[in-house]
Amino acid sequence: GPGFPLAFGQSKAKFQMEPNTGVTFDDVAGVDEAKQDFMEVVEFLKKPERFTAVGARIPKGVLLVGPPGTGKTLLAKAIAGEAGVPFFSISGSEFVEMFVGVGASRVRDLFKKAKENAPCIVFVDEIDAVGRQRGTGIGGGNDEREQTLNQLLTEMDGFEGNTGIIVIAATNRADILDSALLRPGRFDRQVTVDVPDIRGRTEILKVHAGNKKFDSDVSLEVIAMRTPGFSGADLANLLNEAAILAGRRGKTAISSKEIDDSIDRIVAGMEGTVMTDGKSKSLVAYHEVGHAICGTLTPGHDAVQKVTLVPRGQARGLTWFIPADDPTLISKQQLFARVVGGLVEELPRRLYLMVVTFGMSEIGPWSLMDSSAQSGDVIMRMMARNSMSEKLAEDIDAAVKKITDEAYEIALSHIRNNREAMDKIVEVLLEKETITGDEFRAILSEFVEIPAENRVR
Ligand code: ADP
Repeated sequence: GPGFPLAFGQSKAKFQMEPNTGVTFDDVAGVDEAKQDFMEVVEFLKKPERFTAVGARIPKGVLLVGPPGTGKTLLAKAIAGEAGVPFFSISGSEFVEMFVGVGASRVRDLFKKAKENAPCIVFVDEIDAVGRQRGTGIGGGNDEREQTLNQLLTEMDGFEGNTGIIVIAATNRADILDSALLRPGRFDRQVTVDVPDIRGRTEILKVHAGNKKFDSDVSLEVIAMRTPGFSGADLANLLNEAAILAGRRGKTAISSKEIDDSIDRIVAGMEGTVMTDGKSKSLVAYHEVGHAICGTLTPGHDAVQKVTLVPRGQARGLTWFIPADDPTLISKQQLFARVVGGLVEELPRRLYLMVVTFGMSEIGPWSLMDSSAQSGDVIMRMMARNSMSEKLAEDIDAAVKKITDEAYEIALSHIRNNREAMDKIVEVLLEKETITGDEFRAILSEFVEIPAENRVR
């Protein structure tokens, strides 16, 4: 079983030691590539002699890069668990606002203990808090931070690769790190973990569903479908919230009602407050319902999953579509439908894809640009254009314009012909703030026939 964590030091910046994390790679889901990358590290920690005997240069430091809650800490613990070595951890954020000198001495203590317990893992969470580019602070550098960073660099330079200590540092901002940290012999390897895709979300849900009871109407695949943007931590949190709700409601198993309520709660937490000002709310409602109607009435469009006025990130409102089964296999009809449904937003990217990469325009069935153009990056497109004839560039513009005009006409007619349906849906949306795809289609189909393939999902 897991060992007992020991805390060292009395100040804020204490480090912890877990003799045995009890975490394995099976506990970390949806990050297969990162696990693959760390396989070698595990091998090394298990049998350092085998590698040093043949003169292999062992990595000292690995930088784990990814957004919060994507399992970086869990992964580092799993490496220690798989290798059966102790896990030391400290968080960079704890050094902030400490007395000068304390951070540096804490780092020294940490590495001293680590050496005594090698082979082992040293995990530095939020390394950006101490490892930011030096000398960029307002009004000069932060002495404490710099001293702590310098001490960390000194420690890393001080031990040989065969000491059996591997330092894993986590950050979501690799771009702001002091370049001294990334030099050879320090954190010269990077492993990235990202917010999981739908398959990853399903795998993560499976891990956390293991010890819970569900009604037969609950499907992890459907939950995964409904939670784009959720991190592993969000998903773990979601299932736990649902279990708590079920308990509170006196149920013996978690039903899809608890799942729905928990998703709403977490989404609300992520997104901050809803708009309270009536006029902007109504504008956003018309905008979102416009997307939903144009998409739904265009054959081949993805089904609307929900329409909401709850802002998220940069977006004021949102219309969620359930993507096609295999998002990498998209027909011309589907792409065109997305142009109609999305109109304007993200439009340049989709249109250029159709014309220059997928060969779906009157220009012909050719792929004129490679994937760099797919990024939709304006600079990349301009560079690519410089290498083609003026005539071809003009043809591309004309083809793009033709698709735009067609899509605009169709979208406009959907809006004009369905004004009544639109008003009705907006009214409901303003009242409820979020409506499901089914609710949306139920109202819309009172007014107009929805193309068969767009009806349900
Ligand atoms: P990070 O260090 O990237 O901020 P954590 O490792 O602290 O994220 O994740 C917090 C919790 O979220 C984990 O303890 C685990 O319960 C859950 N979690 C996050 N990512 C995953 C994952 N890939 N697989 C399984 N659980 C995960």
